[in-house]
Amino acid sequence: MRWLTEKTWRKTGGSASVVDADILALPFSAEIQCDLLVSPEHFLLIRQFQQDVYNQLNMLGTFLQPASVVVLWPSSNGQFHVYACNDTSRRIRVKSFAIGSGLLGALKERIEFSLAPCPVSAPTLPYYPDAPHPGGFYACRIVSNPAQENTTNHLPLLCVDRAGKDPWSAMEIEIIKRTGEQIASSHNLHGELLLADFERKILQQSFNGLKHLNSSLTLDSVYRAAVAALRMIVSADLIGFGEISEGTVELRHLDGDTAVAAGFKQYPLEDSLIGQAVKYRCILPDGGTHTQQTPVLNGSTLFNNFSSLLVIPLGQDKLPIGGVLLIAGRQSGLFSRRCRDLIEMISAQVAIRLELAYSHEQINQLTVTDGLTGIANRRAFERALEGMHTRALRRGSTFCLIICDIDLFKKINDTCGHTFGDLVIRQVAAEMKVVVRSGDLAARIGGEEFAILLEDTDREGATEVAERLRDRVEKKQLLYQGVLWPVTISIGVAVFPGDTGDTEKLINYADRALYRAKNSGRNRVVVWNSDVRDAQDIKG
Ligand code: GH3
Ligand code: MG
Ligand code: MG
Repeated sequence: MRWLTEKTWRKTGGSASVVDADILALPFSAEIQCDLLVSPEHFLLIRQFQQDVYNQLNMLGTFLQPASVVVLWPSSNGQFHVYACNDTSRRIRVKSFAIGSGLLGALKERIEFSLAPCPVSAPTLPYYPDAPHPGGFYACRIVSNPAQENTTNHLPLLCVDRAGKDPWSAMEIEIIKRTGEQIASSHNLHGELLLADFERKILQQSFNGLKHLNSSLTLDSVYRAAVAALRMIVSADLIGFGEISEGTVELRHLDGDTAVAAGFKQYPLEDSLIGQAVKYRCILPDGGTHTQQTPVLNGSTLFNNFSSLLVIPLGQDKLPIGGVLLIAGRQSGLFSRRCRDLIEMISAQVAIRLELAYSHEQINQLTVTDGLTGIANRRAFERALEGMHTRALRRGSTFCLIICDIDLFKKINDTCGHTFGDLVIRQVAAEMKVVVRSGDLAARIGGEEFAILLEDTDREGATEVAERLRDRVEKKQLLYQGVLWPVTISIGVAVFPGDTGDTEKLINYADRALYRAKNSGRNRVVVWNSDVRDAQDIKG
């Protein structure tokens, strides 16, 4: 039983061993398949039931004196466990044995079995392997659910034996049967109570999870809140989110022990389980059992080791499916019906939150992107500068700032018009995109002024990038009305923390280096140094 761990057992102050804890909860394991937290209330109910059984057995033992009464409970691995007993005459040394062994083999197809006197040739009672033969034996099934009455499944048994060989009287049998019924109804009642408590807890957990989810704004926080909410109702080994676009799925967030190995690339939807779930807008595979027939992700073995799997398309009614949620576990039968219902409910909320987070991300993107060139705007530049500054301070690393300005741009505007001017601006931005690496940032910070932030780059590296950019712009062939129009830029460079440890000063130094470049003939790179500091350049 996954949900009854040693830790939770100890917490309730019980002195029983782990095995005892398992036996104690045995009668309810089938009912509560969801992998949920066990609470002290659960233990109380489980213990209460066992106490109830003991009381019944004691009463029965007293009435049928001197007899031993035993309740045997079947487990899924084909064993009968001695769940409770009133062992007056012998000492039970066997805790479990194979179903159908010894004298109990006679109960395979019967709902009750009576033998008195017991012939010497009769098989022994499997829970008294060393004891002498009983004089009389009686056993009946404990049927808590009327639907089980005619089933061939193994049901718990109430067994009575005594030394005396007298046949069981009708009255005695009636009382044994009544005891069985009492145990069955107590089992039923405690099962219902456990279920109600369990359901209340799940709802509470889901509600808490959803509350958190609903206050998440960014994509990343929605993913994390959704994982937390799902982990409250299922102990999955892997939870992942994919983004669906143009016939492919891209894994955006993975949580679990194999998450690192995944890699964030795009996989075709075609011929994959995710593709089918998206196409038919349904949760696959049926019942959450991973049969491995269809690859989950086309071209990836990420999900091959899982026996339980749910692929849940994420999309609001009538809107196209934008994402997919993947939940997987090594253990089979991880998702009970109730568990799947809850996951579906949470997924619907996740879909709404993700949709909002996508829009949010897009709006954010718009507010940090320059409309004319598509590179970062001044706001994004300021934010990136702040971030780079913090990281450099923490790691003791270096970064550089490059500021550039198009030379004699007024003339371009005046002669060729604003449309051509805009084209020039876009071309310079395009060249900037070419020279920067992925961790760097290129931004348009003014009309025809640009900046580049180079992370983990020293003075030499930055000078090289600046020079390359200057060269590329100079060599760009821009035609105005069929005539080649020369476009050049001037560049200033400053280094953190080599030149200054202050970001405002860093901008100022790069700016002043830029104006040194302008004043010393344009189309050149100037790196901040003492000459620049001492020069009296007039800005503009
Ligand atoms: P310098 O070499 O000293 O930089 O000379 P410059 O003519 O480029 O001088 P400055 O940098 O002061 O000129 C900027 C001009 O850029 C002024 C403005 O008309 C023009 N401008 C600013 N934003 C835009 C824009 O978005 N599109 C166009 N076409 N022109 C712009
Ligand atoms: Mg300017
Ligand atoms: Mg200019």
